[in-house]
Amino acid sequence: MQQVTLNNGIEMPILGFGVYQIPVEETEQAVAAALAAGYRLLDTAAAYGNEEAVGRAIKNSGVPREDLFVTTKLWVQDAPAQANTLRAFETSLTKLGLDYLDLYLMHQPYGDVYGQWRAMEALQHEGLVKAIGVANFYPDRLLDLIMNNEITPAVNQIETHPFFQRAEYQDLMREHGVQIQSWGGFAEGKNDLFTQPLLREIGAAHGKSVAQVVLRWLIHRGVVAIPKSVRPERMTENIDVFDFELTDEQMARIATLDTGSSLFFDHHDPEIVSWLAKRRLA
Ligand code: NAP
Repeated sequence: MQQVTLNNGIEMPILGFGVYQIPVEETEQAVAAALAAGYRLLDTAAAYGNEEAVGRAIKNSGVPREDLFVTTKLWVQDAPAQANTLRAFETSLTKLGLDYLDLYLMHQPYGDVYGQWRAMEALQHEGLVKAIGVANFYPDRLLDLIMNNEITPAVNQIETHPFFQRAEYQDLMREHGVQIQSWGGFAEGKNDLFTQPLLREIGAAHGKSVAQVVLRWLIHRGVVAIPKSVRPERMTENIDVFDFELTDEQMARIATLDTGSSLFFDHHDPEIVSWLAKRRLA
């Protein structure tokens, strides 16, 4: 598996498996199938409610811990967040049945962000997490976090797919040493992504599916991708993307699909901000 090197030297697979919206009773089986298909990066979150099932699948897989790259995410914490963050981290680690994480992400740019970040820095210093990062940070928030803290986030996991490509933002992140990771790489199928004519045409030229073209396009751009599927045949399809290359012309044509806006949440919309910022995990 191709790797990217994060800003602190840690290696991360460029393609992994996401478990958002997999019902908890199906998660263990799905993760077991993903590991059997060859995925080694697993992406979960406290807010997904399925960390225990991910942990069981890891434990029963027999895959050595050092071969895995496990990410989970901290949900929004109240101030003062340092103690709350450490408690939330312990809960996640226990649910996963692990003694360290490869990547711990702040899930949303809300709550006591600075308290949360300082606690995450401490976790990295203690060796309990190999790398720390953020998700859903727009440029203003990301730069402010970078400028006012010791550790620059290793990763920013943001909505990135053919209809919202984030190319300029990726350039800015690269300048600051922040690795872009895509969530919703298939836009969860919105805008009829899986039957989009241009993506189909490009796929046909390579004997590949639309899903494979999208993943190849992300990988070509150096974007870490974490497609979700509960179907083993799709897990196999989604990891089978390392035997073809998109041409510069094909990359340029896919660039024309960008709409420049989110298909999910606008993190600048006051209603969305207050909904996310007020939500607390049970
Ligand atoms: P996604 O990967 O864009 O799309 C998943 C959808 O695509 C599912 O409906 C899946 O259906 C379908 N699918 C998968 N492979 C396919 C294929 N080869 N052909 C046709 N359909 C296919 O959506 P996502 O789960 O939202 O995003 C991926 C991961 O990003 C998540 O699982 C999560 O780990 C992470 N994420 C993070 C955030 C954040 O705020 N940080 C937000 C959202 C997601 P089946 O399952 O039926 O195959």
